[in-house]
Amino acid sequence: MTEDRTTATGDRCDTLVLGAHVVTMDDERRVFRDGGIAVRDGRVVDVGQSADLAARWTSDDVVAGERFVVTPGLINTHVHITGEPLTRGFVPDDTPFLENVFEWLTPIHTHYTEEDEHISAQLAALEMLKSGTTAFLEAGTVRFIDPVVDGLSEIGIRARVGPWAWDLVGDYEALRMTTAEAIGAMTYAMDTYGSAADGRVQAWPIVIGHTTCSDELWQTAKRMSDERGTGMSAHMSPAAMDPEGFLATFGQRPMVHLDEIGVLDRNVLLTHAVHVDDAEIAVLARTGTSIAHCPTTALKVSYGVTQIGKFPEMVAAGVNVAIGTDGNNASNYHDLMRATYLVAGLFKDARRDATMFPAEDAFAMATRNGARALQAEDELGSIEVGKQADLVLHDTNRPEWRPLHNVANQLVWSADGRGVHTVFVGGRRVVEDYRCTTIDEDDLLRRAQAAGEGIVARSGLPDRAKWPSF
Ligand SMILES: [Zn+2]
Repeated sequence: MTEDRTTATGDRCDTLVLGAHVVTMDDERRVFRDGGIAVRDGRVVDVGQSADLAARWTSDDVVAGERFVVTPGLINTHVHITGEPLTRGFVPDDTPFLENVFEWLTPIHTHYTEEDEHISAQLAALEMLKSGTTAFLEAGTVRFIDPVVDGLSEIGIRARVGPWAWDLVGDYEALRMTTAEAIGAMTYAMDTYGSAADGRVQAWPIVIGHTTCSDELWQTAKRMSDERGTGMSAHMSPAAMDPEGFLATFGQRPMVHLDEIGVLDRNVLLTHAVHVDDAEIAVLARTGTSIAHCPTTALKVSYGVTQIGKFPEMVAAGVNVAIGTDGNNASNYHDLMRATYLVAGLFKDARRDATMFPAEDAFAMATRNGARALQAEDELGSIEVGKQADLVLHDTNRPEWRPLHNVANQLVWSADGRGVHTVFVGGRRVVEDYRCTTIDEDDLLRRAQAAGEGIVARSGLPDRAKWPSF
């Protein structure tokens, strides 16, 4: 390739990956064992055989890909980036669900300061980026959306965020809000952050869900998401208390009621959906509602996901099921590859059926299904021409990656986020050689420790660690 030809045909790109094992996750699920990817202006402009790309493109930034399996960035569809990351693991793991939520988690949430939430959001984003997640949908910024957006913009992850919104909870003075206040918070966020950080960060209406929201709040959030072309999200039915609450109030189960008031739709994502019946699954399928399956929370907080959960039936009915990692005292990590492993395995055992959630399908849930849940299936979720260059380079110079025979099995059953070497978001390297390029990691971790200790001290909650500590 000559410089003249390059100039004449304009085939210079910003980054050119050659010689890599490229897992496209495109419609045909093509894999190029000696593949290449060309990136220009933040997007994929070519993908295919390495030799073909080497002939078509030139770049000042050529990545020798022989060491790497390249996948699309993973998409985490439910993460608490505030309220939990700085107190990760503080809550004992033998705490029953109601005590966990109402005596530990929510009281702790009220003690985060603006600076704490900035640190918390960056810590969660750092963990996600370094384990291959390039985009996420948060569960609701607990108190201070501005420093959260600042922190996410700086670190360079792709995010859908929104302020905590509920209107039926009278406890917790710092978090209590009227319907008007909840709508006001959502309106402020969407007016201010309709598109921040070159479009990487976008505000959505995010209501807390469960039985904490009035019909008016649910319907307003839905109307806002329709008017502004975003999605909306909420928690629903991790445990029996949500269906029991809806039945007591409305005489209907949650999905049936939300459908009746016009909330469920293709731009809606509900998190958990463990306690759903067949009629509710039919509603989810008919309306195109997406579900964020959070397997680690279900295990740790004892939701009964494998005994009561109907995720195989949801998938069979055509419901778009994606994956989330939830909060750091209910699911203490944000490595979506670990969560994907659980998604693949739980129902094989529960139903004693090895055909449940094959690795290829589980990995699609972590990528393509997540993109659809984020209302971004044309932009994210696969390595295809025209899509955002959100790429993960998995390092195969590691014991868990060798030998490499079947890349889908390797991604889901053998590897995890530890092997993520380099990450691009919109063509920008945000992780390189296992280090985040956009912030000072060591400084962030130091500040996270200090801030976490401060929150615990202010909360007045007891230290229940069981090992004697000197
Ligand atoms: Zn949650």
